[in-house]
Amino acid sequence: MRASQIFIPTLKETPAEAELVSHQLLLRGGFIRRLASGLYTWMPLGLRVLRRIERVVREEMDRSGAQEVLMPVVQPAELWQESGRWEKYGPELLRLKDRHQRDFCLGPTHEEVITDLARREIHSYRQLPVNFYQIQTKFRDEIRPRFGLMRGREFIMKDAYSFHMDHASLEITYQSMYDAYQRTFTRLGLDFRAVEADNGAIGGKRSHEFHVLADSGEDAIVSCSHCDYAANMEKASSPAPAAEQEALLEAAQVATPGIRSVNGQAKHLGIATSKIVKTVLVLAEDKPYLLLLRGDDSLNLIKAAHALQVDELRMATPEEAEAATGAPVGFIGPKNLPESLPVLADLRVLGLCNFSSGANMADLHWINLNWERDLPRPDAADLREVTAGDACPHCQQGILGIRRGIEVGHVFQLGQTYSEKMGLSVLDESGRDALVTMGCYGIGVSRVAAAAVEQHFDDRGIIWPAALTPFDVGIVAIHARKSPEVAAAAQALHDRLEKAGYSVLLDDRDERPGVQFATMDLIGLPHRVVVSDKVLAQNVWEYRARRATENTLLSETELMAQ
Ligand code: ATP
Ligand code: MG
Ligand code: MG
Ligand code: MG
Repeated sequence: MRASQIFIPTLKETPAEAELVSHQLLLRGGFIRRLASGLYTWMPLGLRVLRRIERVVREEMDRSGAQEVLMPVVQPAELWQESGRWEKYGPELLRLKDRHQRDFCLGPTHEEVITDLARREIHSYRQLPVNFYQIQTKFRDEIRPRFGLMRGREFIMKDAYSFHMDHASLEITYQSMYDAYQRTFTRLGLDFRAVEADNGAIGGKRSHEFHVLADSGEDAIVSCSHCDYAANMEKASSPAPAAEQEALLEAAQVATPGIRSVNGQAKHLGIATSKIVKTVLVLAEDKPYLLLLRGDDSLNLIKAAHALQVDELRMATPEEAEAATGAPVGFIGPKNLPESLPVLADLRVLGLCNFSSGANMADLHWINLNWERDLPRPDAADLREVTAGDACPHCQQGILGIRRGIEVGHVFQLGQTYSEKMGLSVLDESGRDALVTMGCYGIGVSRVAAAAVEQHFDDRGIIWPAALTPFDVGIVAIHARKSPEVAAAAQALHDRLEKAGYSVLLDDRDERPGVQFATMDLIGLPHRVVVSDKVLAQNVWEYRARRATENTLLSETELMAQ
C-alpha cells in the first residue's frame, strides 16, 4: 500500500481534549476521529488495527470450539423486562421507541437475546454444551465516556455465551475460555494479568477479569508477592458475599430489631453488591435511613439507593459526621456529586455520609440513626479496602501489592440466573425438564487497541506490538519524486515483501525525509526501511526497528530475517 493511497490525517499538536497517551496518539496518528462524546470513527489505519485484533480474537475463539453468530444491536424491551434488567440496568441502557411506540434498547450486552435464542432452538441435552460468540458493536450510555476508545459509549466487544446441563460442564468451558483469553492477550503482545473478580449480585460462581497493566488504568488490582493470588480491588476487599450478608444481618438484627433482611432487594436493609460492594445500605424501619460508604463511591451508592427504591436519603455535613463520630473520620463528601445530581433529583435527600478508606470499622460509628449502640464488628462485615502491604489472605506469607489495570476481558459464570428468569430448560437424559446453566465471556476488542498503546509508546509515537500493527513494515522512499531509481527500487522492495507475506506501507509522498520519518514513528510500524540514492549506491537497505535509535545497513537476506 502506498501512503498516497491511504488517508492518514496525522496531527502535529496534541489535541487538548485527550488526557491519556493512547487517546492522544491514536488521534495524532490519524487512527480515529471523534464524532461526539464516546463515539469514534475508525479511520483507515485504525480499522486495520481493529481488524487485526478481531482476527486474533476470532482465531482463538474458533480454536476453543465457540461458534460465531451475529445478533442484532437493537433489542426488544420485552426480553429485558423478562430478565428484570429493564428496571435494574439504569441509565447506561439507551432506550428507544419504534414508530409503533414499542420499546427497544441498544444492546449493552446480549444475555437476554442469546437466552431467548437458546430457549427457542435448544430442547435437548444432546445439543449441549454449546458456546456462541459474536464480535459486535455495543452501546452503553456511560456516565463518563472518556479516554477515547478506552471508555466509549459505542464500542466493539467480543461476547460469548455458553450453555450447559450442569455446573461441571460449565467449569470445563469456563476453563477453556480462560485459556483462550490467555492465548489471545499473549498473542496480542500485551503485559496482562488475570485476576479474580467479584460476580456481584449473582454470587457463588466464579469470575475473572483480564487486566492490561498500565499506570493509567482505571482499576486497582491486588496481587501477592509470594503466591499467585491476584484479584481486583472489589473482590480482594470483600469476603464471600453470602457470608457477608448473613453476618451483617445477624449483627444488624441484634442492633435493630425490625430489620428484616439483608437481601440486596430488601427495602429495609440492603447490601449493594457488585461494583458497589463497598457500600452498605442500612435502612431501619420507621427511622431515618443511614447510608455508609467507603471511598468516593457516592454515586454508586445513590444509584443503589435508587435501585432499592429508597426515597429518603439524608446528606450529613462534615460537621455532623464529626460530631456524631467524635473523631475526625476522614469525611470526604460525595466527590462526584455533580454527576449524581440528576439521580438525586428523584430522591428526597435526607442523609449521606461518606468515609474515606483507611478508617477501621472500629472507628466508624453509625450516625444519623437512633440505634442504642453501634453494630458489633463481625469480620464478615468488615468493609475495609485492601491496602498495599496487607498480609496475603491466601498464603499468609507474602504481602499484597496494588497496581493499576485496564479491564480488557471478563469471564463470568452466570449459573442459572437467566435460565430461571427467562425459562430456558431442556430435556435431560431421563426426559425431565432441566434448567440450563450458563457462562458469559467478554473482550473489549476496541479497548484493546487503546490499552496496547498505553503499554507501547515513546516520545515519538506508538510502538505497535507485531500482532496489532496496521502494517508490518514501512518503507520510506527518499525524494522518490525526483529519483526514478529510488521510486522503482522502493516499489520493487514493497512488492517482494508483500509477496513474502508482510503488509507494507510505502511512503512515496512528496515530503521532506524528516516529515516521513516522523510519520512512520508516530504511527508506530515495527520495522522501517529507508530507500535513498545513497543506500542504493551501496547496494544495501537502511533498516531500523521502531524501538532502535540507530540505523543498520542490511543486505536483502538480512532484512528479510528481521
Ligand atoms: P468497566 O468496568 O470498564 O466499565 P465492565 O465490567 O462494565 O467494564 P463488561 O460488562 O465486563 O464491562 O464487558 C466486557 C468487556 O467490554 C470489558 O472487559 C471491557 O474490556 C469492555 N468494555 C466495557 N465497557 C466498555 C466501554 N465503555 N468502552 C470500551 N470497552 C468497554
Ligand atoms: Mg462498565
Ligand atoms: Mg468492570
Ligand atoms: Mg467486567
